[in-house]
Amino acid sequence: MKGMHKIVIKVGSSTLTQGTQTLSRRYMLGLVQQIAHLKSQGLQLVLVSSGAIATGRELLNSAKETQSSPSKQAFASIGQVKLMQTWLELFSLLDLQVGQVLLTKDDFSRSKCDLTRKTFTDLLQHIIPIVNENDTIATQETRIGDNDNLAALVANLIEADTIILLTDQEGLYTADPRFNPDAKLIPIVKYIDETIFALATGSSTSVGTGGMVTKIEAAQIASRAGIRTIIASSTFPNVLIDLVEGKQIGTLFLEESTTSKSEKILTAFMERSRNQSLNEYNFSITQGGKTE
Ligand code: GLU
Repeated sequence: MKGMHKIVIKVGSSTLTQGTQTLSRRYMLGLVQQIAHLKSQGLQLVLVSSGAIATGRELLNSAKETQSSPSKQAFASIGQVKLMQTWLELFSLLDLQVGQVLLTKDDFSRSKCDLTRKTFTDLLQHIIPIVNENDTIATQETRIGDNDNLAALVANLIEADTIILLTDQEGLYTADPRFNPDAKLIPIVKYIDETIFALATGSSTSVGTGGMVTKIEAAQIASRAGIRTIIASSTFPNVLIDLVEGKQIGTLFLEESTTSKSEKILTAFMERSRNQSLNEYNFSITQGGKTE
């Protein structure tokens, strides 16, 4: 695909564990090999990796001495270490350096976003940043809540051109393909409106980790910032390389032609989500006093 230079790749927990309780090193290695290939082609890549809470849960639950029931923060704290250790080992096999970036909503605020952007600019020159939400210290107020939206915020901040959301579905369907044999994959979405959200809601209950709704939210943020989003199946062996080479896989959400300024997107995001969980959040932007 033309114009892919700076890509944010997001992988969810169920993809990284391949539906089990533990991280799948085999799957992760496949991803690392593709990322290494793309990096060697000169692309700038950011990996948004979930899996901390799932990994921590697995580790703590299997530790018999645990008395009380651990919090998500505890799971995240323990799991993030293991998650990064695993990425580090796998990327090291291909002589690639990675670094951890843990973020909360605050890091995208007006007062901090320049610093966050500068950090990414610096890191991208040397390493592959691996991003997750800082679930251990995020509060209700500062939580983003899901890594699809986090990926969109990062992409917007660093002015990426593409977001690839890898998931356990092939893309967005006209109906839930598990229940409806006539469901068709939608290859391109030109504009995200309520009908698109309605399709996502219909298929979000038990498919994928963050579900389809948060992916559409992310695509909408991205689209308004002039960034394209692709939702694609993590099960295709060379999905990242194929996408960069222009193969039509999954669902492509086109960027809006009237590119909005990053700052406006971030401001709108901060304002709208201040008192609201992102999972319930229907993203919209205030423009010229009117809400789109
Ligand atoms: N940050 C969470 C984790 O690492 C994942 C959130 C998500 O799946 O969207 O476990």
